[in-house]
Amino acid sequence: MGLLECASGASVWRGYDYYKKKKIVRLEEIGTNAFSAKVSGNSSEPYSVELHIDHPRKSKCNCPHANGKRIICKHIVATYFTVLPDEAEKFYTEATAYQEEEEKRQEEFSDKVCHYVWHMKKSELQEALLQLLFEGPDWQFDRFVRQNGLEDDW
Ligand SMILES: [Zn+2]
Repeated sequence: MGLLECASGASVWRGYDYYKKKKIVRLEEIGTNAFSAKVSGNSSEPYSVELHIDHPRKSKCNCPHANGKRIICKHIVATYFTVLPDEAEKFYTEATAYQEEEEKRQEEFSDKVCHYVWHMKKSELQEALLQLLFEGPDWQFDRFVRQNGLEDDW
């Protein structure tokens, strides 16, 4: 498994942010595809990161989130992206493409629902509306009653 797959989505995004903001203050090669780095974080002292690209789970960071826990934190991800900037751009391109795809899917789905409603018969609409009013949340019912001036009638 690649390093990014071992990290949570949030850690990858924050790591990308750290990489972009150049939070890696020192980077040193310590072996084949292995690096040590200092990454400035929330505390005054930078965190010490050890990155093992070929064995992601061996990577370490002494921040409170990852210390002694074999977790791939944002500092490790930031170091990874600093060593492999192409991976960073690949991540960003894929992530934004996915988001756009997702938004497009949502839009198409909304369109589909609208289209369906526009073509419903009056009796079907009435039935659907009553169902929404009586089976939906109370605020929905109350709002309908208020908006249509029905308070006095019941
Ligand atoms: Zn960390």
